[in-house]
Amino acid sequence: MAIRKLLVANRGEIAVRIIRAARELGIATVQVYSAADKDMLAVKMADEAVNIGPPHAAKSYLNIEAILKAAADTGADAIHPGYGFLAENAGFADAVEAAGLVFVGPTGDQIRTMGDKAMARMAAIAAGVPCVPGSDGRIDSPEEARAVAARIGFPLMIKAAAGGGGRGIRIAADPEEFETLMAQASAEAKAAFGDGGLYVEKVIERARHIEVQVLADGEDAIHCYERECSLQRRRQKVWEEAPAATLPASVRERLCASAVALARAVKYRGAGTIEYLYDDASGEFYFIEMNTRIQVEHPVTEMITGIDLVREMIRIAGGARLAYRQSDVVAKGAAIEVRINAEDPAKSFQPGPGMITALTVPGGAGTRFDTMLYQGYTVPPFYDSLLGKLIVWDETRHGAIERLKRALGELEVKGLKTTKPLFARLADDPDVRAGNVHTRWLEPWLEHHQQELQEQEGTGS
Ligand code: ADP
Ligand code: ADP
Ligand code: MG
Repeated sequence: MAIRKLLVANRGEIAVRIIRAARELGIATVQVYSAADKDMLAVKMADEAVNIGPPHAAKSYLNIEAILKAAADTGADAIHPGYGFLAENAGFADAVEAAGLVFVGPTGDQIRTMGDKAMARMAAIAAGVPCVPGSDGRIDSPEEARAVAARIGFPLMIKAAAGGGGRGIRIAADPEEFETLMAQASAEAKAAFGDGGLYVEKVIERARHIEVQVLADGEDAIHCYERECSLQRRRQKVWEEAPAATLPASVRERLCASAVALARAVKYRGAGTIEYLYDDASGEFYFIEMNTRIQVEHPVTEMITGIDLVREMIRIAGGARLAYRQSDVVAKGAAIEVRINAEDPAKSFQPGPGMITALTVPGGAGTRFDTMLYQGYTVPPFYDSLLGKLIVWDETRHGAIERLKRALGELEVKGLKTTKPLFARLADDPDVRAGNVHTRWLEPWLEHHQQELQEQEGTGS
C-alpha cells in the first residue's frame, strides 16, 4: 500500500530525520508530541501535529491508544516509530497493523523473535551465526544458572532479555556474586522493561563493537557494510564510525555475510542492525543482538554508501522491493559521528536541560549536523539527552578526523553544557587516531582526562 500520510511516533532529532525523508518522498507528515514538546522542531516542521498527552512518556510516547487515535483523527496511513519508545514493541507493531495502518519496520513476530535478546541468540545459532558462549535462551532457575556458569566460567555477563540502551547488564566475577546479582538484575529488568527475564554470556575482554546494517524487504536482504561503535560509556555509544578502521577485509566479508544470512533466515523486512563483538587478537566475532529499527548512528552508513536508509525503510514499508542489489552498495571513504548530548562531561555526564541561547551549526564539505535544536528552544528534562549528531565524511579516516575537529570548532551551543568538549580531545588522542580502542577503552580515558575536562569548564561550549 502506497503511504500518503506518515505519523511520526517519536521526538527529538530522529523525528526531524523521518519528516525530512517523508517530505522527499512526497508523503505528508503528522507529528505527535507530549505537552513538554509542543515547541519542538519536528512539531514546527510536520504538516500536522497532535498532542498525545502529558510529559511522562508512559502517558504520551508510549501510549499506544493515544497514538492510534491521533493516526485515525488525522487520516494517517502509516506510523514510523523511530528508535527507543515503541520502536521494538511487538504489540505496538501488531496494533498498528490491526488498525489497518502500515508499521514502518519489521512484523510484530520478527520483533518478538529478534527483539528478545535471549531468543535472538537462538535464532542466530540456528542460522549458523557465531554467538558469545552463554545460556541457551533464558535462565529459569538457580540450578540452570549454576550449570551455565560451570560450563563457561567467570567473569560472566548477566543480561536482561528485554534490555536495551546499555541498561540491564551486570558482570559477575564469581559464583557468590553471581547469585546475588542475578536476583538484583531480574528485579531491575522487571521494573525497567516490564520483563525480568535474564540470560548469561561469557565476558569478551578487549572486544570491539562492530555492527552490520541490513536492509531487507521480506524476500531479499542486503548489507550496507559495518559500523564500529567501540567508544562507549556505560555501554552507550558516544562516537561511531563507518567502516571499522582496522577490520581485515576477509573478516568484513564473513561478518557481513553472516548478518545477511541471519536477516534472510528470519525473512526480515525493513532496516535492521546486527551487533557483534569482535576480538582482534583471535579474529573471531560473536553475535550479541539485533536492533529491529533504525539506529542512532545510521548516518555514518549513509555517508559511506550514499543510501538514504530512512527513505528506504519507508519505501519498503509501503510495499516496494529493495531498490538495491548487493553489488550496487559501494562503501567509499570514512565517516564519523559524535553524539552531542545535554550532559556535562566535567561533572560525570550529569544531564542538564535548559534554553538554547545561541546556536551555530557547522557546515561545509562532508559535514552534516542532525539535530532537534534551534535558537530559543528549551530542552525539556524528561527524555533522552541527545541533542544532535555531528557527522563528517572524507575520503580517508585521517581526513574525516581533521574534518571532525574543524566542524567541532564551528559548532556552538550556548545555554547548556554539552558533550562537545570531549570530542576534540578524543580526536587528538593517539589511540583513537590509530583505531587502537575497545569497548572498555573510553571509561579509564575519561577518568584520566577528568582534570582537563574540568579546566575547560567555564570556557563554555
Ligand atoms: P543505538 O544502537 O541506535 O545507538 P541505543 O541502544 O543507544 O541504540 O538506543 C537508542 C535509544 O533507544 C536510546 O534512547 C535508548 O535509551 C533507547 N532504547 C533502546 N532500547 C530500549 C529499551 N529496551 N527500552 C527503552 N529504551 C530503549
Ligand atoms: P544493549 O541491548 O543494551 O545495546 P548489548 O547486548 O548490545 O546491549 O551490549 C551493549 C554493550 O555491552 C556492547 O556494545 C559491549 O560494549 C558490552 N557487552 C555486551 N555483551 C558483552 C559481552 N558478552 N562481553 C563483553 N562486553 C559485552
Ligand atoms: Mg546493543
